[in-house]
Amino acid sequence: MTQPIQQAAVTLAACRSVVALTGAGISVESGIPPFRGKGGLWEKIDPIKYAHIDAYAQDPEAVWRVLFMKLKDVLGKARPNAGHNGLYHLEQMGILKTIITQNIDGLHQQAGSRDVIEFHGTFAFQRCMSCGQKLDSKQVTLETLPPRCACGGVLRPDVIMFGEIIPMHDLQRSQMLAATCDAMLVVGTSATVQPAAYLPVIAKRSGAAIVEINAEPTPLTVDISDVALIGKAGKIMGELVAAVKQVRMETHGANDF
Ligand SMILES: [Zn+2]
Repeated sequence: MTQPIQQAAVTLAACRSVVALTGAGISVESGIPPFRGKGGLWEKIDPIKYAHIDAYAQDPEAVWRVLFMKLKDVLGKARPNAGHNGLYHLEQMGILKTIITQNIDGLHQQAGSRDVIEFHGTFAFQRCMSCGQKLDSKQVTLETLPPRCACGGVLRPDVIMFGEIIPMHDLQRSQMLAATCDAMLVVGTSATVQPAAYLPVIAKRSGAAIVEINAEPTPLTVDISDVALIGKAGKIMGELVAAVKQVRMETHGANDF
């Protein structure tokens, strides 16, 4: 066991209200390419042209053809990986309380996590722009584009598109959780995009320990993180959960499990 993992495990094992902040990096091992950064989807597709609410309002068919059909296919096939499963185990152990995710893939819920704040909404559901009805994306056929509700209204993914704002309730609850958690586990996000970027700062200022798992060092690594575990989220999360269990056994005896 390497030293930083042991340090992170000791920190988390003593916690009762950890908040996880996750991003694209946790879903890469599930086959979902990132949107931002090098090689990301936004290098190939102009988000202002195809992921903006105004673009969708003007020509929903074009947005489905260029972007959403591809997303529906990729996200429909994706399954949770060891990173998502590890967070579920931490919740089961009474350590993790809530996940705040920037992802729209619904994989935390698929892994079993119960309290998930989806900052950017979810592609798992489609919402009617006329009557507000929500449908499971798997049940929506794409024989005609854009897909429509039984009422005739145009369906849209239940995601936050460019030009839209994160619901105030989610934002306020996330800020409150960041200010009151005993540790924040940042997984697969460099946390450079607002408003998610501010959450580790709030947590740190409020006295929480910051544990980071990322494929490469990020701006958080030097200034904010108490422990940074650099590598693939799935592999590291698996090792971390095993180490936390070990620490708990040593501290409380095997009877706790
Ligand atoms: Zn409708």
